[in-house]
This record gives sequence, C-alpha cells and structure tokens, in this order.
Amino acid sequence: MIKKDIVIIGAGPSGMSTALHLLKIDPNWRERLVIVDKGEFPKEKICGGGITKKCLNSLRYMGFVENSISHNKVKELKIQFGDKKKIIFSEKPHFIVTRRKEFDNWLYKKCLQHGIEVHQNVRVRNISNQNERLVLNTNSDEYITKVVVGADGGNSIVRREFQFTSILNLAYAYHAIVEQNYQIKNENSAKFDFTNLKNGLQGYIWEFPVDSNKLNIGIYHSAIWKNNHLINVKNLLKKKLDSLEYDEYSIRGYPIRLFHPNNTISRKRVILVGDAAGVDSLMGEGISFSIWYGKIASYSITSAFNTNEFSFNNYKKCLLKSCIGKELVRKLFIARMIYSLPFQKMITFLFPSTKFL
Ligand SMILES: Cc1cc2nc3c(=O)[nH]c(=O)nc-3n(C[C@H](O)[C@H](O)[C@H](O)COP(=O)(O)OP(=O)(O)OC[C@H]3O[C@@H](n4cnc5c(N)ncnc54)[C@H](O)[C@@H]3O)c2cc1C
Repeated sequence: MIKKDIVIIGAGPSGMSTALHLLKIDPNWRERLVIVDKGEFPKEKICGGGITKKCLNSLRYMGFVENSISHNKVKELKIQFGDKKKIIFSEKPHFIVTRRKEFDNWLYKKCLQHGIEVHQNVRVRNISNQNERLVLNTNSDEYITKVVVGADGGNSIVRREFQFTSILNLAYAYHAIVEQNYQIKNENSAKFDFTNLKNGLQGYIWEFPVDSNKLNIGIYHSAIWKNNHLINVKNLLKKKLDSLEYDEYSIRGYPIRLFHPNNTISRKRVILVGDAAGVDSLMGEGISFSIWYGKIASYSITSAFNTNEFSFNNYKKCLLKSCIGKELVRKLFIARMIYSLPFQKMITFLFPSTKFL
C-alpha cells in the first residue's frame, strides 16, 4: 500500500505539468505526490506535436531551451479552402512541431531531475472513497490519497469513476506519418486545409513537417454540432492521402474531449486537467492547454491543503478567469460559428478575408 497526499493519474503533459508547477510553488510537494501511468517511457503518443507560441513561455519556465528537443519551426502557414489559398509568413515561428515521444520524455526527465516519483506500468482500475481518503485499485499496488488529479486523457477513468458530466461530443483526430513526396521539401511550412467543411467536416486536415523529409498528415473533426457528426472522418483522411499519391500508410487516432464552461471539472478531492477536463474545440489543440491546466490546478491544490478544504469548488472559477480559460471560451465560440452549417455554406465567399486563426 502506498500513501501520498496527491496521486496524479497520467504522465502526459497535463499530469507532469501539474507536478512540476506544484514543486515550483513549494519543493516540499516532492515527497507528498506521485504520478502513476499505465505506460512506460519513452512512450509513443499519437499526436501532431504542434506547440503554439503561447505555451513556449510556460515551457521555458519549466526549463525548456531551444535545443531541449528536436523540432521544426513553422514560419510559413498555408491555409486552404478548395482552390483558394492563403500564405502567412513570419520570421518568428507561428508554432513548433515536436515529436510527442521526445517531448513527453523530456518532461519525464524534468520530473525525475526534480525528484518526482513516476510509477510506470501502473493502470488505475477503480477509485473508491473511504473515510475522507481515496483508494486507488491498480494492477500493482493500492494507493491511498487525499487528492486525485485526473490527468488521464480523453478516455479518463477518473471521469468515469466520478461520473463527471460533459456537454459536448467527443472530437476525433487521426493521423499518418508519411515520407514527403513533394519536389520542393519545406521543413518550415505547415498546411491547414478547410476544404472539407463543405462535406460536413467540422474541422480541417493538417500537414505538419516532421524532420526534414517526413510529414504528419492528419484530420481533426470537432463534432461540435450534433447534426452531422457521423461523417466518416477516417475515410476523408484516406481520400486526402490517396489524392497526394501515398499508398503505404497507417492511420491512427483517438478521441479528444472538448472544453465547455458548463463541464464539471472537479469534485470533492478530485480535480481534472488536460484532455480529461477538455481542450480547444476550434483546432483540437491540447498540449499547450494541458501545460496551463497544470499551472492552475497546482494553485487550487495548494490552496486546498492550506485551508484543509477539499471541495475544489473554486477551481473552475479560477480556470475561467485565467487567460487560458478565456481563450478556451473564445475558441469554443469561434468553433461553433465556423463549423456551423450556415457558415460552411458561406465560407466559399468569405474565405479571402478569413482571419479566424
Ligand atoms: C491525431 C492527434 C493529433 C493531435 N495533434 C495535436 C497537436 O498537434 N497539438 C496539440 O496541442 N494537441 C494535439 N492533439 C491533442 C493532444 O495530443 C492532447 O490534447 C494531449 O495529449 C493532452 O495531454 P494530457 O496530458 O491531458 O493527456 P495524454 O497525453 O493523453 O496523457 C494521459 C496519460 O494518462 C495515462 N493513462 C490513461 N488512463 C490511465 C489509467 N487508467 N491508469 C494510469 N494511467 C492512465 C496514459 O497512459 C497517458 O500517458 C492531438 C490529438 C490527436 C488524437
């Protein structure tokens, strides 16, 4: 039996960010918390690996420097709708493309450097509430704790065990990694193709550079409007890959939970972060938001222990007041607008002046 004040379930960006931010507030948290994860580092993660500028400052705060991990700097954004294209160039990168396995492994090593315990190959099976303590049943030890942080992704067991409610459908994203077959290879260029809006896609197809000769081609469907969420997203990506004359690829993906201000994201002694709580509905961006969730959660957790009051009633309020909460709400509003049927019909005329990114 392992006893800790805090058990963080999930060693993804949100879980590790929560732990690292807690230690920034008070290094004594080191002995009082543990992260458990069903996987083992270095672990594969299906992801585009795109990290926007706004997250880089938080990462620098956690020790991220230019050469911490290999990445591609995206200076040229190509936005497409049918045969209409818009290119936005910037000397400073719009965002960087990382390899998720490497990025998560970098965060993992940061945790180890700070002496944070990460228990690998520990799958949480269920959680029960016993006399003001939470008991976690896993495939190995039993964990007893005062607070659980659900950082266990879109299919969160913490959500299920505590019957958290969610307003929106799950979004879906799939990708394939392929060799670049373009004549002119550009490792600093990324593409967002919204053409399939007219076919009911509530999202876009991306092409991100990976290294100097590979591309991460993927599709995001927010399913924010229930009327047409049953389109075959995987098939649309397959069609795109076929049109680009790729014949060998493997398409993989998983659901992304979207943020809504009316989602429940905490209960007594339980707090959700990252995908488990809900991320950006417009672009399906989750890494940056997960890092920020960790920061906000670390303040709420510290305050709960300082006041010995574990309802976490204030957590959502703090999130909504923060710049990330405001951005999540703003993106939800824009997603609802541009993925709606009337907008999908009008976009052909609106496209040349589109400034929604
Ligand atoms: C195809 C695709 C492309 C994407 N591209 C991008 C992108 O380019 N940029 C971007 O910002 N976002 C992207 N995302 C979203 C991004 O991957 C997620 O938002 C992000 O990983 C969320 O981080 P997290 O820490 O909340 O969860 P995760 O990274 O999912 O981590 C959850 C962790 O919990 C562990 N876990 C789960 N259940 C249990 C359990 N029962 N017991 C113990 N451990 C458990 C898992 O092993 C995992 O390590 C993409 C998603 C998909 C599907």
